Amino acid sequence: MIQLKTEREIEIIARGGAIISDLFQEVESLIRPGVSTGELNKFADEFICSYEGAVPAFKGLYGFPGSVCTSVNEEVVHGIPSFRRGLNEGDIISIDVGVKMEGWFTDSARTFPVGEVDDATGQLLKVTEEALYLAMEAAVVGNHVGDIGAAVMARVDGTGYGIIRDLVGHGLGKELHEEPQVPNVGKAGQGPPLMDGMVLAIEPMLGASTDQIRTLDDRWTVISADRGRSAHFEHTVAVTQDGPRVLTGSVPEEYEVLQGPAVNRGVGGI
Ligand code: MG
Ligand code: MG
Repeated sequence: MIQLKTEREIEIIARGGAIISDLFQEVESLIRPGVSTGELNKFADEFICSYEGAVPAFKGLYGFPGSVCTSVNEEVVHGIPSFRRGLNEGDIISIDVGVKMEGWFTDSARTFPVGEVDDATGQLLKVTEEALYLAMEAAVVGNHVGDIGAAVMARVDGTGYGIIRDLVGHGLGKELHEEPQVPNVGKAGQGPPLMDGMVLAIEPMLGASTDQIRTLDDRWTVISADRGRSAHFEHTVAVTQDGPRVLTGSVPEEYEVLQGPAVNRGVGGI
């Protein structure tokens, strides 16, 4: 069953989301050659725990050993942080963060370049991030879940990248994973209707050259089947009568639908 959230509940989720947004800004400066994924995990854990009422939501969830997921290069999701895993110039690292604030989950991920990356890698990151923004713009009352996946497909079409379809976005609230599932492929107008009060984690994952994945022997780390690089961008979004509200950070100005209510835009100095 799809659980709709009240405005008050969405505000709590947004408070968790603000912590993740701030965390990503802070952690970006730590991502450089030589740093280990274990150090990034430790920083994230301490950062989240410094906020009253907030805990790293992934820590111990389903038995996950880290506080955040750190997935390097061909790793798509669920990479386990380690002090023995150092980053190299030109790598990419996806950091997936969950915060539980007063019992409410928030979920967001970003793929960061480590130093300078090659153009092909830069393009993969750019397209995945744009696919997320376009998908979020489709998260409006009157649309359906299928419109979100259709928006991802429209951006990726013609690039040669693979949309990882075995992993999906999801509703979230009191649980990290709630209904509905939010696939990154779909047909406009199909799937459950989007309603005021739905809170969704929208999270396109793209493989540079494949849409196939497999899980390593550690039973967590998901990699692309051909070991090509992959990128992952995720925000938690509330579907509201006033449009999609991004709860885990801000979005570039050109995505007007995602800028929030007009009163907050400072238009015309009013
Ligand atoms: Mg996530
Ligand atoms: Mg998620």
